[in-house]
Amino acid sequence: MSPVDEEQMLGLKGLREFLRVRTSYDVLPLSFRLIVLDNDLLIKKSLNILVQNGIVSAPLWDSHNSRFAGLLTSTDYINLIQYYCQFPDQVDKVEEFRLSSLRGMTLAPQVPYASVSVGYQNKLKNDRAADVLVLTTDIEKAIGVLPLETVSVHPSEPLYEACSRMLKSRARRIPLIDIDDETNRETIVSVITQYRILKFIAVNTEPHTMLLKRTVREIGLGTYKNLITAKMSDTVLDVINQMVVHNISAVPVVDKNNVVLNVFEAVDVIPCIKSGVYDELTFSVGEALCKRADDFPGIYTCQEDDRLESIFTTLRQSRVHRLVVIDDNWHLKGMISLSDILKYVLFYGEEEYATIA
Ligand code: ATP
Repeated sequence: MSPVDEEQMLGLKGLREFLRVRTSYDVLPLSFRLIVLDNDLLIKKSLNILVQNGIVSAPLWDSHNSRFAGLLTSTDYINLIQYYCQFPDQVDKVEEFRLSSLRGMTLAPQVPYASVSVGYQNKLKNDRAADVLVLTTDIEKAIGVLPLETVSVHPSEPLYEACSRMLKSRARRIPLIDIDDETNRETIVSVITQYRILKFIAVNTEPHTMLLKRTVREIGLGTYKNLITAKMSDTVLDVINQMVVHNISAVPVVDKNNVVLNVFEAVDVIPCIKSGVYDELTFSVGEALCKRADDFPGIYTCQEDDRLESIFTTLRQSRVHRLVVIDDNWHLKGMISLSDILKYVLFYGEEEYATIA
């Protein structure tokens, strides 16, 4: 092993040890707000609440059974759009849908596996978090998608466990669920995201991240083949379909010479449907991107010769959700998602690295 590789492995070891001694509680700020939506809320109202509060997801609460009912994310709205496209004559019904018809219902840990489909058992079998199962909802059933798996962690479990569970279940955020001592019922403490975890790592582990001298190219970080792209003139609906088919949450927008102009993200769908006018989905990507909030920070790029160390510097300094890999002339080369970075940090050099999609 070369000295650079030795240093790289030392840095990764340091990061993994850090994640094993810290808990999800440590990631939370001293004071924070948590917006929880009642599962009986009309979908239309939920959109306005998200937009007004500048958030893109929220935990759901089943007030009939006083328990956590899953996480509402942009994927749920994308499912709703798929439903609308497949059943356009049901537009009136879409207006009346409540969140409970949108998002999977969470079942208690004691529910036996036998009650869920085989596909689900397979998906869950390697996961210690298999204590939470999800039933297909009306919309998920109608459009034929598998329900999102809702995994959760206890806030005092090691952060390494939360990250590992997130990566293995392909969840981009994970709710922290505790049990109230007095009532013995579930309490939603907060939700942690890949973004928050990577920011926490970047801010607190500089002595380790500065050892990560291998470049993006050398460690093969990100995706470089079969990249899914869009043109400014494509419709929002086209791009949403691409995201669903390829199970990705962002599509770089390029010109005819493959020069990167912008990135359309799953969360960009929310402003398009907030008024309840689904016709806006036939708008072009260019028009939809104009709806972004004024304080949108822009997109972040890097090059294949950038070291992982410098990516951690960008994560430390900015609100990065993904990096577009470009060449000197802004031609698209690849995409690095937060899950790519987290996966490398946790599993590089271990058996799981190749097996986690
Ligand atoms: P999020 O970005 O929502 O936090 P994530 O980190 O899982 O979630 P995704 O954008 O869903 O990010 O990426 C999932 C995988 O797909 C990653 O390995 C990433 O490199 C790859 N990927 C991302 N965007 C594209 C794209 N436009 N074309 C092809 N592959 C992509």
